[in-house]
Amino acid sequence: MQERLQKVISQAGIASRRAAEKMIQEGRVKVNGKLVTELGVKVDPQADDIRVDGRKISARQRQVYFLLNKPKGYISTAKDERGRSTVLDLLPEVKERIYPVGRLDNNTEGLLILTNDGALMNGLLHPKYEVEKTYVARIAGEPDEMTLDRLRQGIRLEDGMTAPAKVHLLAQGGGQSRVEITIHEGRNRQVRRMFAAIGSDVKALKRVKFAGLTLEGVGRGKHRELTAKELSALF
Ligand code: URA
Repeated sequence: MQERLQKVISQAGIASRRAAEKMIQEGRVKVNGKLVTELGVKVDPQADDIRVDGRKISARQRQVYFLLNKPKGYISTAKDERGRSTVLDLLPEVKERIYPVGRLDNNTEGLLILTNDGALMNGLLHPKYEVEKTYVARIAGEPDEMTLDRLRQGIRLEDGMTAPAKVHLLAQGGGQSRVEITIHEGRNRQVRRMFAAIGSDVKALKRVKFAGLTLEGVGRGKHRELTAKELSALF
């Protein structure tokens, strides 16, 4: 895509738009070996060789945002030294260097955001923003409401008390239960450990909601880009 040269220079992070204009006017910028001193020349930041004071600037990557419905059996890191399948294997066509926002366990499924936007990633993960995550857990046992209240109040784990969780019993019978739980912390294996603390083993875990986004219309193992509307709600 063609963009104005001063914009491309400033987006590369080396100068403000005004300073980039000055660099051009001062004769410090070459495009494909040719000096450019006029403002408004259009260039392709991916294809053209753009140099300021002889040094090549690298084009800023397009910022991309994906919502993935992660199946079990994929780990939430960009690379695995043991050669296991990672969530990135599920988005083979994406050329940008994206990372998962937070983690789901290998045997947890559900909603995972992937992006190359570090600022958004930090915002979604920073504890001070208390971004909500909702999970549906299939657990062993049939805990009563009083027992579930312990999760609602906050429960002691080995790394300290959890914040109060929102908990809804969805179904119960045959020695097991389906429970929806919403937390805003992101400790390691937190949901599994919370249920373990009330004596219930988690048999299956799925994240169904994250920061207001849901899995609606995205089948297991599938992904889609976030819409402009969804993005503006996140920022
Ligand atoms: N809590 C867990 O225990 N596992 C996950 O994958 C996510 C939250």
